[in-house]
Amino acid sequence: MKKKFALALAAFMMMGTLAACGSTNTNQGSDAGNTSGSSAVDAIKEKGEIVMLTNAAFPPFEYLADDGSVQGVDADIAQAVADKLGVKLKIVDMDFDSIVNSLKAGKGDFAAAGMTVTEERLKQVDFSDEYVTSSQMVVVREDSDLEGDKAALDAALSGKNIAVQAGTTGDWYAGGDETTGSTIKDANVLQYKSATEAALHLASGKADAIIIDQKPAEAIVAANEGKLKVLDTKLTDEQYAFAVQKNQEDLLAIINEVVAEYKGDKVDELITKHMGA
Ligand code: GLN
Repeated sequence: MKKKFALALAAFMMMGTLAACGSTNTNQGSDAGNTSGSSAVDAIKEKGEIVMLTNAAFPPFEYLADDGSVQGVDADIAQAVADKLGVKLKIVDMDFDSIVNSLKAGKGDFAAAGMTVTEERLKQVDFSDEYVTSSQMVVVREDSDLEGDKAALDAALSGKNIAVQAGTTGDWYAGGDETTGSTIKDANVLQYKSATEAALHLASGKADAIIIDQKPAEAIVAANEGKLKVLDTKLTDEQYAFAVQKNQEDLLAIINEVVAEYKGDKVDELITKHMGA
């Protein structure tokens, strides 16, 4: 199953590449009304500002600092993109499940939200090269006896109350969406706006488990000292990337330059820095 999901992901990525080639050709054609292509970066420079869309409830990738500012791995990488363009970075915080539509509607220049590359999202936006590998994990109360490999856990989670952040790959997995490789059946999926809310309802006993990305899972457990634990089993293999509106190859190229610089050691350092914050 895991292998199948990885293969499917590889296929989506190839589709992304093909789509990018297709739109480059379009821009070279007589599509004079198309304001995308080489003008995306010009427009940002003219504004003097690049706008990042995120959901600041996903530590260590994005979270609200005491002063109300959005901090995190994504904000740091986004700042490097802004610096490269010589513009200011503005971060807009919104519900995770509004981000793709808001980006499509032009409410931001890109999304950086620990967002997994998926087939569904590739139909709507383009993705940069990936910069983080992640998995969906299961968080339970410390005294829970839930355990096992992926197949056993999926079976054990079937019919249970599973808390998730709405519109995420964890949400889809809990709902038994086959594209995620899930074999969970008939779970009662409790959709919350944030991981923090999901954690509250797990701690209180309203939910039996949370399905969420690896680092946020660790952050939730750390924030609920002694009450929660994250199981070792990885349910999926996922890749995070920045999202941009379709047909903005010049902006995508700049973001990819920064991603190439950060991917690996620099991202790992940022994760460590923000896990401690
Ligand atoms: N990686 C998950 C997704 O893309 C969750 C992201 C998030 O909650 N910020 O759906």
